[in-house]
Formats: sequence, C-alpha cells, structure tokens
Amino acid sequence: MSEIKKLPKREEVAVKDTWDLTKVFATDEEWEKAFEELTKLIEQSATFQGTLEKGADALVLAIHHMEVVNRKLETLYCYASMKSDEDTTNSKYQSMSSRAGSIFANAQESLAWFEPEILSIPDEVLQDFFAENEELAFYKHFIEQITGKREHILPAEQEGLLAGVAEIFSGAGETFSILNNADLQFPVVKNDEGEDVQLSHGVFGQLLESRNREVRKSAFEGMYQVYDQFQHTLASTLSFNVKGDNTQAKIRHYSSAREKALSQNHVPESVYDTLVEVVNEHLPLLHRYVALRKKAMKVEELHTYDLYTPLIEDDSLKYTYEQAKEKALLALAPLGEEYLSHVKEAFDDRWIDVVENQGKRSGAYSGGSYDMSPYILMNWHDSLDQLYTLVHEMGHSIHSYFTRNNQPFIYGDYSIFLAEIASTTNENILTEHLLATEKDPKVRAYILNHYLDGFKGTVFRQTQFAEFEHFIHTQDAAGNPLTSDMLNEYYGDLNARYYGEHLTKDAQIALEWARIPHFYYNYYVFQYSTGFAAASALSQKIVHGTEKELNQYLDYLKAGSSDYPIEVMKRAGVDMTRKDYLVEAFKVFEQRLNELEEILEEID
Ligand SMILES: [Zn+2]
Repeated sequence: MSEIKKLPKREEVAVKDTWDLTKVFATDEEWEKAFEELTKLIEQSATFQGTLEKGADALVLAIHHMEVVNRKLETLYCYASMKSDEDTTNSKYQSMSSRAGSIFANAQESLAWFEPEILSIPDEVLQDFFAENEELAFYKHFIEQITGKREHILPAEQEGLLAGVAEIFSGAGETFSILNNADLQFPVVKNDEGEDVQLSHGVFGQLLESRNREVRKSAFEGMYQVYDQFQHTLASTLSFNVKGDNTQAKIRHYSSAREKALSQNHVPESVYDTLVEVVNEHLPLLHRYVALRKKAMKVEELHTYDLYTPLIEDDSLKYTYEQAKEKALLALAPLGEEYLSHVKEAFDDRWIDVVENQGKRSGAYSGGSYDMSPYILMNWHDSLDQLYTLVHEMGHSIHSYFTRNNQPFIYGDYSIFLAEIASTTNENILTEHLLATEKDPKVRAYILNHYLDGFKGTVFRQTQFAEFEHFIHTQDAAGNPLTSDMLNEYYGDLNARYYGEHLTKDAQIALEWARIPHFYYNYYVFQYSTGFAAASALSQKIVHGTEKELNQYLDYLKAGSSDYPIEVMKRAGVDMTRKDYLVEAFKVFEQRLNELEEILEEID
C-alpha cells in the first residue's frame, strides 16, 4: 500500500503496450464527423413512429433504422469512454465521453416508441407479417422477446401513470447508496505499517487480507460499529426497496418479484431453487474448508476477519507480461486452433492496453462494440493473479469476437447470465493447466487455494446472498415487517449454517446484510454462482472431454443473443434447469480440497 512507484505519463507508454484505437477512428476529427452524422440520423427516428402497423415492409425499415442508430452509437460511445479511460484526467476525452453519454440518452429517447408500438400490434397480425416478409422472419426472436411481455403490459393510461412514478421505486436504493458511499463516516484504524488510515469500503477489503490479525480485527470491528449504529435506517431502506420490487411485480401481474426479475432473461425459477438446494446439500464441504483454514492458520478460534487473508504466499509464482502471454497460449490450447488464433490476434494486433500509466482507469475489463475489436484494458503487474485476469478478460473478448463475427448486429451481444461463463471457464482451464504442470507442493497449494477461495466467494457466498434476498422478498410479500432485529436474526443464522461450527459466531456478521449493495439489485447475484458452476463443468468437458464437447462450447460462444440464455447453455452441454452441472462443480471442489488438505499436512 505504501509502495511508491513512479508511473509513466500516457504519452511515455510504448506504442506496442497500448491498444490501437486508430482502427476505430483514425483521428478525433473522424469521431466528430460520426457524431454529426448520428445526430442527423437520430432526428429521422420520428419519421418511423406510427408506421409499424402498416405492414411487414414498414416494420423492417424501422428495425433497420434502429439498428443503424444503435450500431453507430455503440462505436461512438465506446471510443470516447476508452480514450477517457487511458487517462481520466484528460479533459478533452472527459468532454467527448460526456457528450457520448448525452447522445446515447437522446437516441434511446428518440426510439422509445418502438416497443409500445410493437405491443399494440395483435399477435395474429404479426404472424401474417412474418409470413409475408422473409427478412422479418429473421427478426422473429427479437420481436418475440418484446411480445413475450404482452400479458404484463398495462393499458396505456396506467403505463403512463407508472412511468410518471418510476423514479419513486428506485428511491430507497438511491438513499442507501448515498448513505453508504457518502454520508457514513468510518473510523480511523491502523494498517500493516502501523499508520493511521481512514476506513472506507476499498480500504476495508485490503485490510481484511492483511497478514496481521490485529489489523484485520480492528478494521472488521470498526466497520461494523458504524452499521450497528445505522441498522434501523438501513433496514428501512432495504425494506422499502423490497416493497418496491414486490409492488411492481404485483402491478404487472407476476406471481412474485423473483418471477418478474428472472423472466427478463427467460430463466425459469427452478434454476434458482435448484442452485440453493444443491449448494445446501454441499455445505459440509465449506465447513471442511473452514476447518482447514483454522488448522492452517493455527488459531484457537477462527473469526470472520480471518476468512480473507491468503493462506499461502504467492511469491514463488510471478509472470512478466511476456511470460504470461506464452503461458496463456499454452493453457488455452485445449480450446483448439480457431480459438487460439484469435488469442494470438489479440496479442499481435494490439487489442490490449497493457501497462499502468498516470491517470489510467484502474482494474481490468474487456470492452468494445460490434464494429470494433474486443479491446482489453489491464494495469499489468507481475503476478499469478494478473495471469488469471488476462485469461479472464480474454475469455470475454473471444466470446465477443465469436459472437460479433457469427451473429448479425441485432443478436450480436449476450446477457450477463452468459457473460461470466466464458471468462470463468478460461480461469478454470488455466487452473487445470497449472495443476497439470506445476510439481512444487507450495506452488500447487497456492493454485489450489486460489481456486477454492474463488469457489467459496462465488458459489457459496453468492448463493448465501441469493437465499437471503429471496427470504426478504417472500417475507415482505407475506406481510411480515423487515425490522433490523428480524434481519439480524435470520442473517446470523444463515451465516452460521453456511460456514459451520468451526467459525466463531461474531455478533457483527449478523449485520452484513446492512452493507451489501447487491441486495438492492433485484435478484442479480445468483447468476455469479450459476455461472461459476457452469464454467467449472464446461472446463472439465473442454480439457478432458471429446471434440464434440469442445465444438458445443464454441457454438455457445458464437450464439450471442440469438436464443434465450438457458437454451444457449443447453446447446453448450450444460442444462441449468437440472442439478448435474452443480454436482460436477462440487466434485472438482472436493478433489482440490482433498489435495490441499494433504499438502498442508505435509508442509506442516
Ligand atoms: Zn468478467
């Protein structure tokens, strides 16, 4: 944390280490020209309004217009925000980026009539349209995604009323966010160097990983002391947020908030219930992991603040960027020649912005639009974790590449439900490769622990969140008030059930619900767990399976949004309405837990 490094200025970074955005717009003047063109196109949107019912040809024309607008918009927007990410202090790109945001909003507004107008056309008439015009048949899935909501759309007058009060439904979440990010004052605690540091959400995460127990403990206690003080307010914001979800579901004739949320992606509720059920069946594995951690750390009592510190130091495995590229190509080889050729392209054709420079946006992401290369932003430093990040983002980028090159624009994206599967599968393939090649027990222990911690934080923890989220929605729907006492009691018990008897029951953890922003995301977190488990099953098929199984996986990467996510995954070989893929994932977790137990026993 106290490491002082002199970062290069953006213009000092070697060209080969930067992404090549000149392929998108040769100059910023080209971007300005495109901006002008798009502004004119957006003005034309109104001429299509009210034409859809005239017939199949008119409908096709309107869809084409919408596609052109969105396609140009994405490229314009991505270029500006990526230029701005290169150096967030650059005011020219800040301004381009905010102009891109405004034109984005204008474009959406100019096309807002499209969905209601489609919904105003009776199904029989639409069926005639499909039969009439071959090109329209191609947009069938796109239109069905809109008409699928038909029974949940209200008469125009009521829709108007709802639109007028829409903001109120997000009020509680907004208040939580302002309180949590701006107003709450956290105490000053000591860091590893014994210096005073102001506790914040980011600093809290870092201090919990400290090897100094006192540092972890005081961060943990300091954080929860604040949530303890505000628990009644936070129960109120959460409660009103849940009421908002439940009320909207009721108004729109859904049987529950969960049905409403999951139906956006056409995900059956059984996927959610199956996840919770199978994870619960496998909680003894998490209990064993906790017991192992307690033993390895040689502590009398294992507390919540002992769960995040690394069990094994990673200093034995460091990769420079050049070494990481080689390793990535070796590790990802089971994905086949076609896949690998695009990974090489990513390295050779400057898809990647590699090194950190002054003002650069932190972290890593994969981005780009339909008409661009799927660029990757990194802030490289030599470590194994960065190699994992590289193959993760590469997973997103090759998924985007395949999708964009095999699907028309209208189906050229993919939902969040599918996105993390491609990236996590790559991470799992890397783990397989490292475990197949590294012999040193300490190195193996580090890799195994990296995997187990990832699994714990994703499959177990996010399912725990999912269970809690469903509980609060059903309780509210049944008329039971969500008081802080009630939330604390349920969450404390839930946490104890997940981690088992080897974890000491810290009173503070019962308040964890109060600080998790995801509980305001409306049934979002379960996708992290299902995605991780699906990726685990898929990587096994890719590394140890048949060519047919590999091709099925590649088909998923090429499918985009041409079908509903559950159907796309079925074709990839994973049926997420059944429990098998979860059971497979837990088998891998168990094998790796067994090996880590053995190694730690020997090293000891
Ligand atoms: Zn990701």
